[in-house]
Amino acid sequence: MDLDSIVEDQDFIKQALQSANIPALIMSIVHMTGDTRILEGDIKPRFVDPVSAGSDASIDEDMGEDGFTLEQMEIVRRWALEAIEQYSTSTAPLPELNKKDIESMLSYMCGRKLTEEYRSFIEEEIGLDGIDRRGISLKTPELCARASSFSVIIIGAGMGGILASIRLQEAGIAHTIIEKNAGVGGTWYENRYPGCRVDVPGHSYSYSFEPNYDWKHHYPVSEDIRTYYEQCAEKYGVGKFVRLNTEVVRAVFDEEVLLWRVHIVGKDGVEEVLSANALISAVGQLNRPKFPEIDGLDDFQGELVHSAMWPSDLECSGKRVVVIGSGASAFQIIPEMSRVAKQLTVFQRSPVWMFPNPIYHLEVAEGHKWALRKIPFYSKWYRFGLFYSAVEGVYEQTLADPNWSSPLSVSASNDVMRDNLTMWIKSQVNDQALLEKVLPKYPPFGKRILQDNGTYLSSLHRDNVELVAKEVNRLVPNGVMCGEANVHEADVIICATGFYAERFLYPINIIGRGGVTLSEQWGIDEGRAYLGITVPNFPNLFCIYGPNTNLVVAGSIAHNAESQVNYTMRSIKLLLERNQAAMDCRQEVYDEYNSRVDSINERTAWGAPSVNNWYKNSAGRVTSCLPFRIIDYWKMTKTPDPEDYIFIDHN
Ligand code: NAP
Repeated sequence: MDLDSIVEDQDFIKQALQSANIPALIMSIVHMTGDTRILEGDIKPRFVDPVSAGSDASIDEDMGEDGFTLEQMEIVRRWALEAIEQYSTSTAPLPELNKKDIESMLSYMCGRKLTEEYRSFIEEEIGLDGIDRRGISLKTPELCARASSFSVIIIGAGMGGILASIRLQEAGIAHTIIEKNAGVGGTWYENRYPGCRVDVPGHSYSYSFEPNYDWKHHYPVSEDIRTYYEQCAEKYGVGKFVRLNTEVVRAVFDEEVLLWRVHIVGKDGVEEVLSANALISAVGQLNRPKFPEIDGLDDFQGELVHSAMWPSDLECSGKRVVVIGSGASAFQIIPEMSRVAKQLTVFQRSPVWMFPNPIYHLEVAEGHKWALRKIPFYSKWYRFGLFYSAVEGVYEQTLADPNWSSPLSVSASNDVMRDNLTMWIKSQVNDQALLEKVLPKYPPFGKRILQDNGTYLSSLHRDNVELVAKEVNRLVPNGVMCGEANVHEADVIICATGFYAERFLYPINIIGRGGVTLSEQWGIDEGRAYLGITVPNFPNLFCIYGPNTNLVVAGSIAHNAESQVNYTMRSIKLLLERNQAAMDCRQEVYDEYNSRVDSINERTAWGAPSVNNWYKNSAGRVTSCLPFRIIDYWKMTKTPDPEDYIFIDHN
């Protein structure tokens, strides 16, 4: 446990505990005292569904966080103060807790008995015993020697690429990361539009082994996440493996020598070919900005920008600004623009569902940061609490009931969520015409549900803002053409119109065995992979955040990246142990997995035929989303099954 010692006086600690998370504090008390009786008393979290939890309807003067009464919270803080006093003045080690104790703690936090599978999942994710179980260890000198002659090329130095580099370094495997940008951080390097922030809690949006106790906001802003990844890269020595400002344009599996030949082009335009035993794609799903496919894009005479390519010197103050789109990026840009633009016109093709979340823009209190840094196990359990509510909390509500027939919801529980979300929107809109426009007419989870503290809808009420519920299909020199004669004049047009998410690894030309290209094998927008990671005919190609691995229900993509890198590292270990050159996914395993993926995705809110979203390809197949519970995916990716692969011997 890497904790700073507690040197502060009682008054300071008392004050800090005012902003500590109560369930996590209770867990820490058990760790510090070894006494589990606290779990059996009347002081327990009260579970409320995540929608009503944040809405005004749930506010009870006597009720605090997680359903504890204010009085109970005070009692817990008193207990914590005593336990901290004892802990900080004692030189004895913390009491040992056995498996049963940990199980009781997990069940207390979750309000239900957790199965064995969940316990090991959590053991790995939060590493209570301080053991990081996700790296590989190569025990014999022979394996180490083989590892030292194995090499890897990673495409992309974002969340996935940095992680892969950390794990490869631990295993002593040489690698190079090719990064098209001038810095690391991937999507957080690129997305710099005003208002940009992550919409999952920061304390779970980080590597499990590298917590950040200093997030300024509960939902960190883009710049702070970029800094986090820069610091991770620095701390773990990733920088020396990265070639910045360099793009992979082509990668060919050379069957003669069983190596990947990777063609890269630097800023100077010169092409170079690197070779490696394995290729890891960590390019993400959302890295090629998509402008709308409309007429007149080149005709517009003002500033035309994409949300993901925000010019640092773009000036919108006092201008006539148009935003095209109303997805996750637009949702964050619009309130910012409404404050500075002379006139803001928003073109919305479909409205979005939003979760009430009062802490969405709030800063993390100093007392909470102190607790994360100093109280034993507090940060681990806090992370677990965030993770659990996001992962398991709402999964069932996304699944379609085959006997449910409504275009507006996919099941009874999804319909309840719809009612609650509708109430939340209605509570903020006092204009019937606006309400008609902003109430979605598709099931919750049909598109990503956004975190909301009321800022978005209040910005649409401003006098300088107009919401036009129409698709844009033509730009003219002075603005957006709407209908035959009506021009919405603009100085700046912001396209918050998303990415080429359906074209995995686009535009890199990847060529596998027998000369087959990925885009031929898949079709242009038909990405598939076994576990989202491997593809037949492309030996030793491993994808991080590949096809069907995106999370619609919050969860944390950081956790998924860890699962995928873990699987990749264990696959490389298999190769080394078996002294094989390459492994190629069996077609039947891939086919069977993908039909399972499709059959579940078709029965989700995001797969519903009535829903249009970026998760589907042009044929309506969901290519981007993971249909499984995270725990199931974690199990699937824990260890590669050698039976799933054809191994290729060294030539
Ligand atoms: P997006 O969700 O694909 O949204 C694109 C928007 O543009 C949609 O509202 C779409 O309408 C609209 N659109 C496209 N063409 C149009 C046209 N011709 N006229 C009018 N509207 C048009 O893209 P995004 O907002 O960049 O978000 C993509 C994903 O990135 C998110 O789902 C999320 O996973 C991630 N993201 C996350 C955060 C965060 O963590 N806070 C922030 C930004 C992005 P339709 O809906 O009708 O297609």
